[in-house]
Amino acid sequence: MFGLIGHSTSLAAACELAERLGYPEYAQGDLDMWCSAPPQLVENFSVTSATGKTIEGAYIDSVFVPEMLRRFKTAKRKVLNAMELAQKRGIAITALGGFTSIIFEDMNLLKEQQVRATTLEWERFTTGNTHTAWVICRQVELNAPRIGIDLAKARVAVIGATGDIGSAVCRWLSQRTGVAELLLVARKEQPLRDLQSELGGGRILALEEALQQADVVVWVASLPESLSIDPANLPNPCLMIDGGYPKNLDSKASGAGIHVLKGGIVEFHRDIDWQVVALAAEMAKPQRQMFACFAEAMLLDFEELHTNFSWGRNHITLEKMELIGAASLRHGFQALGLDSLSAPVPSLATA
Ligand code: NDP
Repeated sequence: MFGLIGHSTSLAAACELAERLGYPEYAQGDLDMWCSAPPQLVENFSVTSATGKTIEGAYIDSVFVPEMLRRFKTAKRKVLNAMELAQKRGIAITALGGFTSIIFEDMNLLKEQQVRATTLEWERFTTGNTHTAWVICRQVELNAPRIGIDLAKARVAVIGATGDIGSAVCRWLSQRTGVAELLLVARKEQPLRDLQSELGGGRILALEEALQQADVVVWVASLPESLSIDPANLPNPCLMIDGGYPKNLDSKASGAGIHVLKGGIVEFHRDIDWQVVALAAEMAKPQRQMFACFAEAMLLDFEELHTNFSWGRNHITLEKMELIGAASLRHGFQALGLDSLSAPVPSLATA
């Protein structure tokens, strides 16, 4: 059995969801009430792979909302309690979705293995970042040529290059895809230099300079609220993959020749009979589209790889990306493409 730990996108969205699900006390609750609420296993469902194999899944709402991000102790407690619930229900592999994996890493929850009487077994959890990184790379490879960008001649900027997903994307794009030049963007200099020497190349640039030069921009950092992008300074055409969370790049960059694609999202080959996930996820096709990190838990269960496949920072290898990518295609996932948010690009297997 696999699990997904998720959360609503805002307190307002959480209250609306509670109203629809028939929990009036939650629907009318304020932030303090939501802060003290325990996690809930809200639904069970089954999923059938393109191979015909069926597995069982569960969705756990951590009852976290982004408004709690500044309340560090609360945010930490929400993630740990949700993990404890997953483990107590005997779920073999659970993905940490949305902000929960970021909270886990940023607040160093590896040090908090004991939750009341439960010792968390890390091998039961995955961040899902390996699949997310692979999906983002496929989105670059499949969609850049569609708008006339030849990747062998292209400059690709990775914003958040030194992060867990960003560094994996850089490795893949330089060693597998073979893009002409990588532009590396992050705030801290030393990790950028370390990455540059690991890659044996790539140019370190400030965000503004990178945006002026990049044919393709992969965003794998959460965007600051204050960020503004002048479309006149971007090359035309320009492909932007919005791999951060929340996905709000389309509100910051638009104009002729600018193509913004929601990154790290996959579409399954058939509808899944889930109700709450569909309501919470805010996808164009909620019965079959999901974050790639969620899909990783399913893939690991389909493959009976019950292990913390994606864990810690900057451990994602090309071999692991290949393994999870092959499983993704085999079990019927496709990366979202540019045609429209509701139409996936063809996978390598069918292209
Ligand atoms: P990490 O924390 O490992 O990496 C974040 C990276 O972004 C670092 O390189 C960091 O470097 C950089 N960064 C942060 N803020 C800025 C900034 N203002 N300007 C430039 N660079 C910045 O995160 P992950 O790799 O785990 O995740 C990256 C993003 O992907 C997150 O937004 C996450 O929510 C999202 N995500 C999306 C998924 C999906 O869509 N399916 C699944 C999982 C994650 P520095 O600190 O030096 O700036």
